[in-house]
Amino acid sequence: MKERVVLITGASRGIGAATARAFAGAGYRVAAGYHTSQQQVHQLAAEFPGQIVPFQADVSSREEVQALFEQVEQRLGPVEILVCNAGIAHQELFTQITPQQWQQVLDVNLSSAFHCCQMALPSMIRRRWGRIITVSSMWGQVGASCEVAYSAAKAGLIGLTRALAKEEGPSGITVNCVAPGVIETDMMQGFSDEDKEVLAQETAVGSLGTPMQVAQAILFLASEQADYITGQVLGINGGMVM
Ligand code: NAP
Repeated sequence: MKERVVLITGASRGIGAATARAFAGAGYRVAAGYHTSQQQVHQLAAEFPGQIVPFQADVSSREEVQALFEQVEQRLGPVEILVCNAGIAHQELFTQITPQQWQQVLDVNLSSAFHCCQMALPSMIRRRWGRIITVSSMWGQVGASCEVAYSAAKAGLIGLTRALAKEEGPSGITVNCVAPGVIETDMMQGFSDEDKEVLAQETAVGSLGTPMQVAQAILFLASEQADYITGQVLGINGGMVM
């Protein structure tokens, strides 16, 4: 069933773009969600003409997510696999975080998954098949200093994943989470080479991760072979958090 439709949010760059490539390479039809990186997402789509189709939406907006699902359904059909990947990082001392910053980090990283899952589920339930994969972070598992809002949002995604897996299991839908460690993407822009080397040494394998290493795990969790795996949090962190 490789021609299934997968919607990946945040597919214009980083982990989301690698995930779009992995799914398209495996024969799926990919709705590539993006917010501002129009040029990047169109370059990505050009690599797999007709198979990766870009769709613009701010996933923190309920209205835009609703419109996104309507457009994907019209163009490609109902979403059978949903990858909630879009996210933003935010580094700040906890005492300095404004209520607006707190809300934005929660809206983009966590409420976006609430909106997307609610839009995706009715047709998955009707078809009695579906896959939802959320992209959390190891900081959602263990917490990061100066990233309290981000850690809270990513921990929330883990709670959403586990609870939703219980609710939707009887409908033939699995819900799983990947929790990446330090992966080389634009999100790491603020880190110097020295910082990255220190982080790499904190892993068991001695290196940072690549977007494609995360993408391959997501691809597996979406496959038929993973149909007995649900409610799980898969760390992809080179052994940094066990
Ligand atoms: P990235 O390279 O910064 O890409 C972020 C993606 O999210 C972009 O495609 C961006 O779209 C999209 N996005 C951001 N805000 C959005 C919004 N309001 N609406 C729709 N899309 C939005 O990040 P990444 O490193 O690939 O991270 C992907 C996911 O993995 C995130 O959830 C992140 O928290 C998680 N993660 C990353 C790491 C890491 O080390 N890199 C570690 C753990 C977890 P546009 O560019 O089109 O605006």
